[in-house]
Amino acid sequence: MLKLYNSYSNSLEEVELNKKQVKIYLCGPTVQSSPHLGHGRSAVVFDFLVRYLKYLEYKVIFVRNITDIDDKIIEKSFEENISYAELGTRVSKEFHNAYEELNCIDPDKEPKATEFIDHIIKYIKKLIENKFAYVTKSGVYYEISKFDDYLLLSGRTKDDVVSGTRVEIEEDKKNPEDFALWKFSQEDEPYWESPWGNGRPGWHIECSSMIEAILGKTIDIHCGGNDLIFPHHENEIAQSKGAYPNEKFVNYWLHNGMLNLSGKKMSKSEGNIKLLNDYINEFDGQVVRFFFLKSQYRSPQEFSLDLLKESESTLNNLIEFTKGVNPEPKNEKVLSIFEESMNEDLNTAKMLGDLFKLINEADALEEQKLKDLKSTIKFVFNVLGFELIKKDTNRKTKDELIEFFNEYDIKFGDIDQAVNEFINIRESLRKKKDFNSADKMRESILDIGISIEDGTYSGWSWKTS
Ligand SMILES: [Zn+2]
Repeated sequence: MLKLYNSYSNSLEEVELNKKQVKIYLCGPTVQSSPHLGHGRSAVVFDFLVRYLKYLEYKVIFVRNITDIDDKIIEKSFEENISYAELGTRVSKEFHNAYEELNCIDPDKEPKATEFIDHIIKYIKKLIENKFAYVTKSGVYYEISKFDDYLLLSGRTKDDVVSGTRVEIEEDKKNPEDFALWKFSQEDEPYWESPWGNGRPGWHIECSSMIEAILGKTIDIHCGGNDLIFPHHENEIAQSKGAYPNEKFVNYWLHNGMLNLSGKKMSKSEGNIKLLNDYINEFDGQVVRFFFLKSQYRSPQEFSLDLLKESESTLNNLIEFTKGVNPEPKNEKVLSIFEESMNEDLNTAKMLGDLFKLINEADALEEQKLKDLKSTIKFVFNVLGFELIKKDTNRKTKDELIEFFNEYDIKFGDIDQAVNEFINIRESLRKKKDFNSADKMRESILDIGISIEDGTYSGWSWKTS
């Protein structure tokens, strides 16, 4: 039985979903600047969820939006002296490239705010009709005091809201905590026509109205980073309940934890954000994806270059272990570890730990059992979106290569010469029947991205794989 932690009830719940249709919405990126690692984590961990639900034979409809108009986008486009649309298109491409490299399943729909302006306007009209919103000289605002259940998701108080956050300071709002649904445009800013004046939608309203337009008034699972709980998701709830007071908006709220960089949260204000695509280029998307698998999605996750390197070597071990077998669900133990861990709020960290215990004990197994173990491990990793095929990343610097080969007294000239000498040393060990040392050499060279295989040419061949 699948259990997920619902942020709204603050508890682990046995989920009840309809096999024929599970509606999932994930708050996607604001396309103002390049994706960072935190964006990668949110995309990957909820991709685990979508893939696991599909494995359990649920029919999933998955929607992830793109915020392509917003104050920050406008500001950034002015800085770069390009249009908001040009900036949005460029940054969206970077996000799509990252999603693809991370092997995230494409959403069934990927709505952009600017494609739903008509719907957003209708939604705001409804909120005004229902007396949850009012118009001023600067825009249209949601009146928070009208919604009794405000802040039930985050558990904050209204005092926290006013004192603890940067509340917009438009002077004509009724209350400082009211938030904008529609902002009238300043000179030179992009705008759309509306019954109240030319302007653009606020950020929160796009998610409520796009969810309703695409998925309907009630959805099963709403996902996002836990930095979105307040104010974004509180405001989505306020809007949706304001427009449709008798409908349940979301059945399960899921939030992923943040990444920490040497104990600090990664955020724009801390200035410690690294670009996601840099790591993908350096390490390959599968390694970055594997890094996210190592932590349960709700936990804060420590990030460092060393931890990423460690993920790379663990993943390489796994690739090595499952080499040459087909993915097949043969070993019951592996399947039960997989399902039990995933059923327990997608505990991928526990799954990895338990699977590696089996791998470490695998030496004792007879041939067929070992093969079944390998096949099943490959199978569950395939389910979670890992191909377990090593890619040529060519990412080692010359200095690193010199250092590596130096340990075997090989003077590095070029990669062919050095690897051939390495292979000769290893072959002489095998001739002396020192298979243990030979195996160690084979393992160690994996660290620089090279796997040596038994081949026909001169007894040996090598390839960067
Ligand atoms: Zn959203």
